[in-house]
Amino acid sequence: MSRAYNFSPGPSTLPESVLHQVRDTLLEYGNAGASIVEISHRGPEFLDIAARAEADLRALLSIPDDYAVLFLPGGATTQQALLPLNFAAPGQRADYVLTGHWGQVATKQARPYVDLNIAASSEAGGYRSIPPASEWRLSADAAYVHVTASETIHGVEFRPAAPGGHPFPDTGDVPLFADFSSSIASEPIDVSRFGAIYAGAQKNLGPVGIGVVIVRRELLERAGQPRADIFDYRLQLAAESMLNTPPTWNWYVAGLTFRWMLDEGGVEVFARRNEAKAKALYAAVDASGGFYRNDVDPAVRSRMNVPFLLSDPALDDAFLARAHDAGLIGLKGHRVVGGMRASIYNAMPLQGVEALVAFMHDFQRRHG
Ligand SMILES: *Cc1c(COP(=O)(O)O)cnc(C)c1O
Repeated sequence: MSRAYNFSPGPSTLPESVLHQVRDTLLEYGNAGASIVEISHRGPEFLDIAARAEADLRALLSIPDDYAVLFLPGGATTQQALLPLNFAAPGQRADYVLTGHWGQVATKQARPYVDLNIAASSEAGGYRSIPPASEWRLSADAAYVHVTASETIHGVEFRPAAPGGHPFPDTGDVPLFADFSSSIASEPIDVSRFGAIYAGAQKNLGPVGIGVVIVRRELLERAGQPRADIFDYRLQLAAESMLNTPPTWNWYVAGLTFRWMLDEGGVEVFARRNEAKAKALYAAVDASGGFYRNDVDPAVRSRMNVPFLLSDPALDDAFLARAHDAGLIGLKGHRVVGGMRASIYNAMPLQGVEALVAFMHDFQRRHG
């Protein structure tokens, strides 16, 4: 079978050129005399990979110098647990804004360590919107405010730049922490608005197993919870994210993906492509006369993850089977919401979305 268009939410599709490079270096990396997965993280080859990955990510996201970048093992959930440990005093207040499943998961990770305040939530409405900032009940003494930039399962996204879209709130002196797992590098962002940005790599940055944390250096000086060295962001920074053996392979492939994004023209180019892809897909859903449906407030619909329901769920299995036959995979929705979901990250070309839209039309014609 040739490569299908892969709409999987994560692990997700990678650029084919990155996979070719990976294949070419799997047996022997440069003149190292060994595979990239076999050589030391302290050797010159890997130190060069690590330095280049950081430089490229800084260029890609326009990360200011007063922000540190960490490459840490584990996923976004790991960072959700480490953020309170590093930035809150024991039992200190921390504000969470819930706009979907991952915000809820973040509260589960933080609850043992902080006095957790749900400052706002759209749960009662089924996570189809973002509560207006005027309704957020923020605490003056919070260690931080946590938001999920893009809710990968519910398909809800803060859209600071979009007309009518939801901006990130101004949290004053309280730092804003944002889970950008599914939308990092999908459009330009103003990093200086955030105290910390984190993302698991497997959505938009590379393979699973490594996470990126971008954090204002000044915050690292704040006292946090008692913690083991290995959980301490300050010590990780001092050790250049190598307190212990880092996930070198994942770091390498993420670095290749950063380079690919820069070579393609950077986040401005991806912002335009992502807008076009999302527009085509939502248009197909909205024009289907109810055969397909997405109930998210159009102002905050995600550009990265497009969940949609078939009006007759009895057709779900047939939809997935026929899609697979048509070379379209990874479309099954998350069990929390059911239905379908098309994840259309940077590495998904417009042709993939066009193929999906054509398939959806055809499926409706046969079954509508
Ligand atoms: C996937 C995802 C997570 C969880 O990531 P893991 O790497 O599995 O821990 C958290 N937040 C968001 C927004 C996600 O998309």
